[in-house]
Amino acid sequence: MHSNAFTKVKTRIAPSPTGNLHLGTVRTALYNVLFAKKHQGEFFFRLEDTDRQRSEEQFTQEILEGFKWLNISWDTPEGHVAERTHAPETLVGLGEDGIVRQSLREAVHSSYIERLINEGKAYRCFATVEELEAMREAQKARKEIEKYDNRSRAISKDDAEKLIGEGKPYVVRLNLGEDHIITWLDLIRGEVSINTKDLGGDPVIQKSTGQVLYNFAVVIDDYEMQISHILRGEDHISNTAKQIAIYEALGFPIPEFGHLPLIFTKDKQKLSKRKHGDIASVNTYKTQGYLAKALVNYLLGTSYNSAKYGEIFTIAEAAEDFQIASVSKSPAIYDIQKLNWYNRDYISKLNYQEILTYVSRFSRFDLENNSLFNPSQIQLIIESIKESLDKFEQIDEHINYFFEDFKLDDSELVKIIDEGKEVILEFISLIGSGSLDFTDQNSIKNGINSIGEKLNMKGKKLFFPIRVAISAKTSGPELGFIAVLLGKEKIIERLNSALLKTSHRH
Ligand code: GLU
Repeated sequence: MHSNAFTKVKTRIAPSPTGNLHLGTVRTALYNVLFAKKHQGEFFFRLEDTDRQRSEEQFTQEILEGFKWLNISWDTPEGHVAERTHAPETLVGLGEDGIVRQSLREAVHSSYIERLINEGKAYRCFATVEELEAMREAQKARKEIEKYDNRSRAISKDDAEKLIGEGKPYVVRLNLGEDHIITWLDLIRGEVSINTKDLGGDPVIQKSTGQVLYNFAVVIDDYEMQISHILRGEDHISNTAKQIAIYEALGFPIPEFGHLPLIFTKDKQKLSKRKHGDIASVNTYKTQGYLAKALVNYLLGTSYNSAKYGEIFTIAEAAEDFQIASVSKSPAIYDIQKLNWYNRDYISKLNYQEILTYVSRFSRFDLENNSLFNPSQIQLIIESIKESLDKFEQIDEHINYFFEDFKLDDSELVKIIDEGKEVILEFISLIGSGSLDFTDQNSIKNGINSIGEKLNMKGKKLFFPIRVAISAKTSGPELGFIAVLLGKEKIIERLNSALLKTSHRH
């Protein structure tokens, strides 16, 4: 599966801490993890924190916390540094946490820039902004594609020295040479070919400030981290062509590339924080009470099904038979219903103690030390609603009426009460007659059925008014179950206050 230059599969995720942790970043990381696992390889983490203006510590923390929450861990790279003359003992920028920080590697990047200049594979370009602007205007006037015309390739070494001596600012560009086609066999998309003439001219690899550009830093870092397979979003396809040109110039072995489809919304827009807000951020799902495993499974499932496990799998399970070529080429579609489906499935596999721990964290009621209900009653309540939870954040919407009274304000609910007041009156008088046993949910159920027979009603017409009166909801656990837990007094009280909402009061 891997090319001969690499003895071991090594993959990586390389997030830039310039924004919230995006679902797409995690998804890319997961495919890299799967691929490494499947091939008994390693997976690394590199923080691409070189853009000082846009990188923020807060985002670094959020990214790291997100990975921790999702239980995605990484290996520590050894790297190889033999090619550099002044090679330090270890990979520069490698922290004790196993993370390689790109910002600590600037000197390394610059040393490779120098090497390319010395070998004539890169050159200094002293063109001013005005000069480049005029060049583009002229191209536009000639109806040509605007691009850098490689004019500074012609500057001699001596002239360059002179201009540097004069203190003229310059950028460094990679010399792409004669137009040629760069081709790679993409692990997901098959053969991809890009002509260097479509790359906008010789690319800048170092800015006038001395800062090395993304495409260059990535190649150096991936090389020194011995990355054998680069799986990333397909928005990087044209970068890949430039990066391959850089690998070639440096004489580095070229890794394999696989470009994953991006996540799109149903209306065919790229999922982004700017357009779609918080739904793009991992943190949102953590805060709302999704299970990390469900989110992981969902994200992998957007473009991949396991032949062995179908749609539901852990990372370890998926790794058993992971086939990178089976990752879909079409866009992954963001589908919250599908995520909720996964989450309900994962919640259903938790034991009660685990569920209690989660719901306690999300409920405003003190479930673990409650004055109204004993622990086994709390368990009954939670078990009765757990299947309706899409996410733990919803817990109180499902259980609030057990713990506190409510006002019936919603006009739909008031209408149900109004139309069903006959049922409610009958229920009150049945309870008053003393024939219902509030310790037995069947007794309550039979009682309600007898009202149905008397009034010749069944289904919604019979049950909705009572349910709304005692819970302010149109769905929930069995009425008998609720009645037994709330008790006779509370039920009568709620039925009576519901009647106060009807148009003709009794
Ligand atoms: N820092 C880049 C990004 O976040 C990494 C891209 C890559 O994987 O090479 O898009």
